[in-house]
Amino acid sequence: MDIPLHYFDEYIGDRLYAALDNPFAKHAAVTAQNATASFASLDWSSTTAAFESAKAVVESWPGLSSLRRDSVLRQALSLYCLTYVGIFVLYFSVATFSYYAIFDHRMEAHPRFLKNQVRKEIAYSLEAFPMLDLLTLPWFVGDVRGWSMLYDTVEEGPFGKQGGALPWLYMAFSAAFFLWFTDFCIYWVHRWLHIPFLYKRLHKPHHKWIIPTPFASHAFHPVDGYLQSVPYHMACYMFPIHKYMFIGLFSFVNLWSIFIHDSDMLCDHPLEHYINGPAHHTLHHLYFTCNYGQYFTWADKAFSSFRVPAKGDDPLVAVLAGLEKKRQAEEDAEAERLRALKAPEMKRIDSGLGSEVDPESPAPSSPASSDRESSVERSEMARPKRIAKQRTSTASATSGTDETLSRPRREGLRSRK
Ligand SMILES: [Zn+2]
Ligand SMILES: [Zn+2]
Repeated sequence: MDIPLHYFDEYIGDRLYAALDNPFAKHAAVTAQNATASFASLDWSSTTAAFESAKAVVESWPGLSSLRRDSVLRQALSLYCLTYVGIFVLYFSVATFSYYAIFDHRMEAHPRFLKNQVRKEIAYSLEAFPMLDLLTLPWFVGDVRGWSMLYDTVEEGPFGKQGGALPWLYMAFSAAFFLWFTDFCIYWVHRWLHIPFLYKRLHKPHHKWIIPTPFASHAFHPVDGYLQSVPYHMACYMFPIHKYMFIGLFSFVNLWSIFIHDSDMLCDHPLEHYINGPAHHTLHHLYFTCNYGQYFTWADKAFSSFRVPAKGDDPLVAVLAGLEKKRQAEEDAEAERLRALKAPEMKRIDSGLGSEVDPESPAPSSPASSDRESSVERSEMARPKRIAKQRTSTASATSGTDETLSRPRREGLRSRK
């Protein structure tokens, strides 16, 4: 972390601390450190020149703080702010992108998707960040004070003095070992977090999200999040790792954590047997006791907790079934409503009042009469039943056609008009 801290001090930190500092302490520090150089650079050729050169010197001072760059307090404060800004920017930029570009929004219709879930996930994450940051701080302070085994350049690392391919080979080995070590440790940390005692106290909040969105990636108890990051920090104190590589891997694990929370069930991909992707972690949120891994599936396989993602496990199946059920229910309700509308008309027909409407007369042209329109429509629907009824009543007496059965009634109606 000394690299980001160096750039922070260079461009922001020095001025910021000077501005915030006690003015008397600041003045004393400036006087002590710059007096000699400033005095030597003054132009004494005239009073005006001396005044102008002194003014230029003062304005050129960046300002110094009584908290020097190597002060532990200043380093801790700076690292706390840097880490907070870093995780805040990364979380909102990547999770927002993933939520809008990858996450299938139909998932929000899943019966286990909570009301206002995204807002709750974000609120929970923002609550966790300050404490998570504080817990992580000692590792970062230890690093900038030189207690870790991170190294700055290839030459400073193992086999750096020998040159050639060896230091690069070590870098490749350390990257692979780092991934294996952290994956193994995170598997067990996560699995132990499912022991009922720890689960209830630490890990349960993260499993509140049965159908997680990318915003759930950091929505956990701060101690839960911290414990799952400890293997990363431990690794830096156990074996030499290149600093830039560590920053890259540490940032990537945060991206990966967001990526595996998009609930996307990518099934039948050849890599699904080796890489612990979104489908595996979706199953973990659905079934709790499988797929504890971070990047890879080997630990789950080795310790009997691997579950292969299957198409039938996809929560989208339940979502689509629910949507179909809802559509069917709406159709049934509409059919019921139409039946209810028809019922009074049928009664009127049964009592002989239905004959007041001529089933073959043209539709009313008056724009105001929706009642009349529905009356005609109902009458049209009722016609086959009326005809059937007439057939029944006259079948024994006559052998006429439908036309002959209905003609007298129509003629009667026309004569009324
Ligand atoms: Zn999760
Ligand atoms: Zn879990």
